[in-house]
Amino acid sequence: MTARVIDGKAFAAGVRAQVAAHVARLAEERSIVPGLAVVLVGEDPASQVYVRNKGIQTKEAGMASFEHKLPAETPEAELLTLIDRLNADPAVHGILVQLPLPGHMNAEKVINAISPAKDVDGFHILNVGLLGTGQKAMVPCTPLGCLMMLRDHHGSLAGLNAVVVGRSNIVGKPMAQLLLADSCTVTVAHSRTKDLAEVCRGADILVAAVGRPEMIRGDWVKPGATVIDVGINRVERDGKTRLVGDVDYAGAAAVAGAITPVPGGVGPMTIACLLANTLTACCRAHGLAEPEGLTA
Ligand code: NDP
Repeated sequence: MTARVIDGKAFAAGVRAQVAAHVARLAEERSIVPGLAVVLVGEDPASQVYVRNKGIQTKEAGMASFEHKLPAETPEAELLTLIDRLNADPAVHGILVQLPLPGHMNAEKVINAISPAKDVDGFHILNVGLLGTGQKAMVPCTPLGCLMMLRDHHGSLAGLNAVVVGRSNIVGKPMAQLLLADSCTVTVAHSRTKDLAEVCRGADILVAAVGRPEMIRGDWVKPGATVIDVGINRVERDGKTRLVGDVDYAGAAAVAGAITPVPGGVGPMTIACLLANTLTACCRAHGLAEPEGLTA
């Protein structure tokens, strides 16, 4: 079998177009402009690139983008004051504090200072709890993007065996919760899992969120399974730096039914889902119907 390639780049473009169309209707019919505030503390080069891309795509979708860049040595209290101000600002519907934060800051305290209704990253403890108890939450962007692609490919996910490799708070755990909410039978694997290969072989849906280049081999994949590769790893190969996922793409694509490539799979969906979450937060703030197909 040769797997169908799930084109995350094209899928994300579709999500962004759907968001932009909804945003245009909000502006025309109700003079509402969704706004996303992104806060960057320090000069981490990768974070600067992410923040720039988020700003560009926010504006392209017709939303307002507010960027706040603070020096690395900013006292935590000053960041918390800014978050309070953004919480109270009616033009801001979504707030994202770019992680990682400098070492002198308590990331949990900072994230939990964001109003849960504006927490478009879905990391606030209240949103974590709402997701865990099957209530309406703001859902973390990367797993939401994975869920959208899985629903698109499978239709219903009910009854499928899903294995999520990785149990981080930003990918693995929320991914497992979302799959459970869609009635998959979910196994969460991690670094202490025994015979990971055999666990993976039971998966109809295999989500890899590990951060280890090409760790998941082709012969760990059940024939016909859907493989979602969240991993983004930089490796040196033939004198060049390349991006690879957590899955041995060639090996897995030879047996899987469908697979996301790296790059061009899950990655582009993350920012698209950030825009979707900002739109959802805006609709909820105004008591309007949420955009269809863009939430969990
Ligand atoms: P973390 O480092 O926070 O978590 C990694 C998880 O993988 C942990 O739960 C860890 O287990 C598990 N793990 C590590 N080694 C093994 C192993 N040998 N066998 C089984 N499990 C193992 O990473 P993240 O969840 O933040 O990210 C995972 C990957 O996804 C990274 O490559 C990251 O770059 C990428 N990513 C991509 C995004 C995108 O937009 N596409 C967004 C976010 C992340 P344990 O808990 O036991 O230590």
